[in-house]
Amino acid sequence: MTDAADQLIDGYGRKLDYIRLSVTDRCDFRCVYCMAEEMTFLPRARVLSLEELATLGETFVNLGIRRIRLTGGEPLVRRDIVSLISKLAALPGLDEVTLTTNGSQLGRYAQALKKAGLKRINVSLDSLRADRFAQMTRRDMLDQVLLGIDKAVEVGFERIKLNAVVMRGHNDDEVLDLIHYAQQRNIDISFIEEMPLGQISSHNRQQAYCSSEDLRQIIENKYPLISSTDTTGGPSRYYRIPGKPGRIGFISPHSHNFCASCNRLRVTAEGRLLLCLGQENSIDLRAILRRYPGESDRLESSIREAIKHRPEGHQFSFDDQPQVLRFMNMTGG
Ligand code: SAM
Ligand code: SF4
Repeated sequence: MTDAADQLIDGYGRKLDYIRLSVTDRCDFRCVYCMAEEMTFLPRARVLSLEELATLGETFVNLGIRRIRLTGGEPLVRRDIVSLISKLAALPGLDEVTLTTNGSQLGRYAQALKKAGLKRINVSLDSLRADRFAQMTRRDMLDQVLLGIDKAVEVGFERIKLNAVVMRGHNDDEVLDLIHYAQQRNIDISFIEEMPLGQISSHNRQQAYCSSEDLRQIIENKYPLISSTDTTGGPSRYYRIPGKPGRIGFISPHSHNFCASCNRLRVTAEGRLLLCLGQENSIDLRAILRRYPGESDRLESSIREAIKHRPEGHQFSFDDQPQVLRFMNMTGG
């Protein structure tokens, strides 16, 4: 266990106990808000190996990280993902390993993931209509994702949450249908405001912007929403509908900046430790891992030093040129 004095605390007094580890930049979808249609992915040699990911996991746990979320790209397109989860889940001191997935491979993997020690899982689902789903993800795979979600419910993870990025004129009229779908399965759902990460040409982000407040109004026209004090360690603010199962969360990077309480670090698939989601500051952990293999002290001290330079926060805007040029699949959502 990490002593209180050894815990990662940044220059603004924020304790860091949560890390999002991107295991790949690759994906079998091309969601319009996340990627361009034509993508060039990293050569494999530049992506962290299974051993490097496991070493990083162990190092961060030594530094007081209590939760690791695996993300990407699509983490389930990585063949050694189950083995990575087993290794991380066995780390003493780590409270949980979780995963964010697009669900396309869940039918195949849900059982193995549960067995490997995965407790909670987030599945992205923006639409229940096949044509829209295909438009938003650029892949005609809704049925496969729905089967994957049912499989996840069947194997019985401790908690399943759906994530929907809501875009005006694309899927904002499906909010109540998505809530109904989640309630039928007794699972949570969070609605996310689109963030301006990476340059896209498929739509105008400002025009597609749909605030969490707009969504709350749509929901409250039909159901009362009771604010919940629940937190899952992430940026979602949760509500409940009285008498109904599941929680409804809002992730509002535009309208409700969550930097002041940000307890999260992110590591990209290339091993860059991002000090902030909305800024480019980072350090190259892969370079340290590869130049000084086995020197965990050096890795730990580099991370500690980097944390001191963590920015206070970020502000998203709809300028023509996004402040952050990396796409979300690089960032690790
Ligand atoms: N491929 C997996 C998935 O889609 O769940 C994991 C990675 S994805 C980058 C993680 C989350 O980020 C997803 O819920 C996705 O909807 C969200 N996301 C991607 N690009 C986004 C953007 N520009 N703004 C807000 N959320 C975004
Ligand atoms: Fe792939 Fe997830 Fe990005 Fe969609 S949001 S393109 S599924 S990484």
